[in-house]
Amino acid sequence: RVNRVKIGDRNLWREYGLLVERFKPLDLGQGHPDFIPNIAKEALLEVANSSDSSIHQYSISNGHPRLLNALSKLYSTLLKRTIDPNTELLSTMGANEALYCAILGLIEDGDEVVVIEPFFDLYVPLIKMAGGTPRFVTLKKSCTGSPNTSADWILDPYALENAFNEKTKAVIMNTPINPLGKIFEIAELQKITDLCRKWNAVCISDEVYEWMVYKPREHVRIATFPGMWERTLTIGSGGKSFCITGWKVGWVYGPDKLMNHLKVIHQMAVYAGSTPLQEAVAIMLEKEIELLGTPESFFHKMQENLKKNRDYVVDVLRRHNFLPVVPDSGIFLIANWSNLESKLNINVKNGDYKDVGFTKWLIESIGLHGMPSTMFYNKENRNEMENFVRFCFIKDHETLEILPKILDKLQ
Ligand code: PMP
Ligand code: GLN
Repeated sequence: RVNRVKIGDRNLWREYGLLVERFKPLDLGQGHPDFIPNIAKEALLEVANSSDSSIHQYSISNGHPRLLNALSKLYSTLLKRTIDPNTELLSTMGANEALYCAILGLIEDGDEVVVIEPFFDLYVPLIKMAGGTPRFVTLKKSCTGSPNTSADWILDPYALENAFNEKTKAVIMNTPINPLGKIFEIAELQKITDLCRKWNAVCISDEVYEWMVYKPREHVRIATFPGMWERTLTIGSGGKSFCITGWKVGWVYGPDKLMNHLKVIHQMAVYAGSTPLQEAVAIMLEKEIELLGTPESFFHKMQENLKKNRDYVVDVLRRHNFLPVVPDSGIFLIANWSNLESKLNINVKNGDYKDVGFTKWLIESIGLHGMPSTMFYNKENRNEMENFVRFCFIKDHETLEILPKILDKLQ
């Protein structure tokens, strides 16, 4: 029998949250910005000033129509197919709830789910709660020594092939991938496609960082591959896309027959999301749809700013003896800290991994918060990643300028 509470027992987000409260470090840990974009402030004001009282009441369970219509318009354009707002979309309380609905709605006792590793830490407990078994396929380093860029991690087609069988119900992937910042290559997406089609498996594609891809690279949606629309659930996040993670507005799109499973779980978990926040995200999306692909678009400017932040943090880390892995996308980078290890007196609690000891030491001793990278790996592979720390760089430049001053304390 599955013990649901035990499965979700140790949660590092909670543990680090408490440390942050206590030590108030420079926070490059959890993936959230430290600024509020004007587009979000303006949308909230518009909602607050609206005389339409219905936007403060329950929305229909599938989502607030204005948001579903905006999402339908956006993704119909991007996927070059008509996405029906009533049957092929669901608005959720963040991508988190979308993952909950997708996994609890589709996975049954005895099902296997192929999980590409590293993975967002929520996937595995959800699969286990649903009675499923994760089958891990670990991205491999294609270089010797410490990797330089996120593209140095590749999906081994043979390992992937070996993970699929008649019990495989789904594969879950994240592109751009947290924490590496890798974007899956076309050939890698094609291999996933071929295997999903061969084994009649569903693809759960977590694309919450879809707008954080650095030029000239581009985000590619697996739902656009031939034969994939009918078997893909794509997950997005308004919180991530518009730098307002606390709003918890997310969504899923996919074929009607799969979406029905998610809608049932959603109805029982929350019934409906927050209407005023869905309205505000709809307002922002409507503006973005008009500006899509132009230099005035919020997504475009965000991507440009993030790229500058990435380059700045990479440079600071290199100057302080870290070996950062330059990401092609996303809001995080991981950095190898083994050059510092012998100089520091790090205390690792029994049963913890070295990166947990290191990140706790960073918070308590020099006031810097990063996340341990082992939390994105399953037990068998954690030893290999103990020397990597994850830093989040979606921050104001003034915030990031504190980083070199703090790291000087390590010299
Ligand atoms: N998927 C990934 C890969 C994430 O990093 C996160 C964390 N934001 C989520 C899903 C959850 O997103 P949300 O904040 O919209 O619930
Ligand atoms: N996804 C974010 C991160 O990776 C925030 C964590 C969360 O949603 N639990 O930092």
